[in-house]
Amino acid sequence: MKNILADRTALIDASGIRKVFALAANMKNPVNFSIGQPDFDVPEPLKKAAIDAIQKGFNKYSQTNGDAELIQKISGKVTEETGWKNPGVIVASGVSGGLLLTFLSMINPGDEVIIPDPYFVIYKHIINVLGGKCVYIDTYPDFELHPEKIEAAITAKTKLIIINSPCNPTGMVYSAEQLKVVAEIARRNDIVVMSDDIYDKFSYDGPAESIAKYYDKTILLKGFSKAYAMTGWRLAYAAVSDALKPLLEQMAKFQQYTFVCAPTPFQKAAVAALDFDVTPYVNQYRKKRDMIYDGLKDKFEIQKPSGAFYAFVKAPNDTATEFVQKAIKNNLLVIPGSVFSEKDTHFRISYATTDKKIEKGIEILRSIV
Ligand code: PMP
Repeated sequence: MKNILADRTALIDASGIRKVFALAANMKNPVNFSIGQPDFDVPEPLKKAAIDAIQKGFNKYSQTNGDAELIQKISGKVTEETGWKNPGVIVASGVSGGLLLTFLSMINPGDEVIIPDPYFVIYKHIINVLGGKCVYIDTYPDFELHPEKIEAAITAKTKLIIINSPCNPTGMVYSAEQLKVVAEIARRNDIVVMSDDIYDKFSYDGPAESIAKYYDKTILLKGFSKAYAMTGWRLAYAAVSDALKPLLEQMAKFQQYTFVCAPTPFQKAAVAALDFDVTPYVNQYRKKRDMIYDGLKDKFEIQKPSGAFYAFVKAPNDTATEFVQKAIKNNLLVIPGSVFSEKDTHFRISYATTDKKIEKGIEILRSIV
């Protein structure tokens, strides 16, 4: 048969995660520490808002940039958080959609993107597909930002710096001091920052700061998936200050000819979500964070995570891949760090599950060290 595949398909390697799920296929009622979404359901008032929107007929395309009422509401929130007056906003189909629009609008072949390692998987693959070059900043073993390493990695080709706080997979929440230093480096070198703040609500030891507050050439990405457990609703937004409005216009062009718009009834429900207090959920997740950290810290090398719902733990003795195989044999599913990193030394725990499963998972991990 003729080769029907585009060459770029070879630029995406999803084999690491596929292998893990292939191994996991035969597990019976496993303790599943691999899931990247909350274990609670969408809060009732927000479900009702979506159902009402459907029944009221908000079922057609919205404007490319999003529903006017939602944009106005987001705009107010962004001004509150960043100080940007009259920010530019586009509602996207998930942060994943926002990332794609950003990269399509920014990355030329050969452009370099600085990414702290470990990192969220999507960044690397889309940048590679576009012919960009990922320049990884090794943040092991403390997973802090290491601004001096970021500065040292800047070249004439650097186009973008990616910051993800709270971070998937490490659970780190970067301090305002660190973010200010990175902002200053970006400003001095006139480089755009993309801040993926999708886990901003899940911050356990004080509010998560965004670099957007300290640098006007930041593309701020925020999502509804995690905070309101609506990963299937595909909703997020990108916001920029005046300094990046020309970029946002290009992102809207790509939205127009790809996603067209984010799902309209859910955009209506998102207006209600922005006023919905998720503190009780976050309080539950803080307890889960404490359970994981306290349950493992004497047996494993683990940084105390301050946000998201992940811990990134050093595999004792073996490579992470070997350790994960051992865990799977013991009915526990975790993800090897090589999926999120250029290294294979750690594994990711997602504690977005019931307290009972967390207790069981800790017991299994402690038994296989
Ligand atoms: N960024 C990070 C850091 C994530 O962990 C995720 C989801 N796992 C996303 C973006 C994408 O989320 P969504 O497309 O559902 O908004």
